[in-house]
Amino acid sequence: MQTETSGAWYRRLHNQVLLAMVLGAAVGLAGGPAAADKVGWLGTVFVQLLKMVIVPLVFFSVATGVASVGTGRDLGRLGLKTLAYYVTTSLAAIFVGQLLVNAIRPGVGASFEGLASKTVPQVAQPAGAGQFALDLLLRFIPKNPIEAFAGGEMLGIIGFAIFVGVAISHSPIQVRDRAKTAFDAAFEVMMTLTGFAIKVLPLGVFGLIAVAATSADAATVRALVKYVVTIALGLAIHAGVTLPLLLIVLGRVSPRAHARAMRDALLTAFSTSSSAATMPVTLDGVERRAGVSKRVANFVIPVGATVNMDGTALYECVGVIFIAQALGFDLSAAQQATIVVTALAASIGAAGIPSAGLVMIFIVLEAVGLAGEAATVIVGVMLAIDRPLDMMRTAVNIWSDSCGAVIVARSEGEELPALARPRPAVR
Ligand code: ASP
Repeated sequence: MQTETSGAWYRRLHNQVLLAMVLGAAVGLAGGPAAADKVGWLGTVFVQLLKMVIVPLVFFSVATGVASVGTGRDLGRLGLKTLAYYVTTSLAAIFVGQLLVNAIRPGVGASFEGLASKTVPQVAQPAGAGQFALDLLLRFIPKNPIEAFAGGEMLGIIGFAIFVGVAISHSPIQVRDRAKTAFDAAFEVMMTLTGFAIKVLPLGVFGLIAVAATSADAATVRALVKYVVTIALGLAIHAGVTLPLLLIVLGRVSPRAHARAMRDALLTAFSTSSSAATMPVTLDGVERRAGVSKRVANFVIPVGATVNMDGTALYECVGVIFIAQALGFDLSAAQQATIVVTALAASIGAAGIPSAGLVMIFIVLEAVGLAGEAATVIVGVMLAIDRPLDMMRTAVNIWSDSCGAVIVARSEGEELPALARPRPAVR
């Protein structure tokens, strides 16, 4: 697919998507909800097309990825590297958020009177950090894989796919070869299906942005400007400084070239606010445009879309400290440390769907003893402006997944010529 023609096709697609964003925003802002309703179905159909492919794609990509990694030792190495990357970058994002929210203090003096408050969906009360970790682990081992498939339980599907992949690579050679061929073929078919969805990306983005443009409450945004700026700044630093530095230092690739390769995935993440729905497009960008091997991408990307959420992690931390400031609470160093750890856990546990991060904030609030009536009202106000923040943090989540795939691939000795850094001219 990496021919000149496909390159030109991708470039045309980028321009169409950007145009679709501008037009969608114009329709939503000028025409309001009535106009957005008329075109919103285009976005719904597009997201549904992506969702249709997610479950089989995640299963086949992780299983083929794990099967092609080979023996237990190789898998362990790849798994550990991936995990190390996820945890390090999520923590880095959290620290940036923590620094900014403590410096800017957007919650101090914030008043929530007269602001829109929405009814906040409640999560089940978390039962302590240990129990939370065990529950998370158990979700990787589905009692019934078919039930996990039917319910779209991503952690269960990934867990089962890892087991199947390991079983394939431990099977007798004839079985292994036949199973690998069959799984590879199934994976390719799912990617072709993804290609169909990508063809209608501009139409989908147009519909999604038109609806998104009407959904943020302008009065609330104005009142919470400092809070929005803190998060946007934190996300910008993480996506524009921290991750590019890692790409340069650890990956020795050009962040610019990689960002170009990931443009469609980033715009899809921004428009859909869903890492899970974007996953097929991310995989397409990382494999076909950035040139990462299937062996690495098929493992790092689906797992990352489910557990690696840097933008969400930063958001959890800033959100909770913001609430504490608004309630006039002075957080101790121990409470700030608890926030860092639970924000990481909440980001891992958050589903890759719109506003999942906001709902998970209760876990972090609970951990520092702030989950009361007053905090719930503030979360309701935060919900009123969650859409634009969700769009940004989802794009950051996807960007981090893709950087992870590149860095792990480079550490495994892959060349990635498509992302080569420009050489300084030698005289
Ligand atoms: N929407 C985000 C995602 O899918 C999760 C969140 O709400 O933070 O990555």
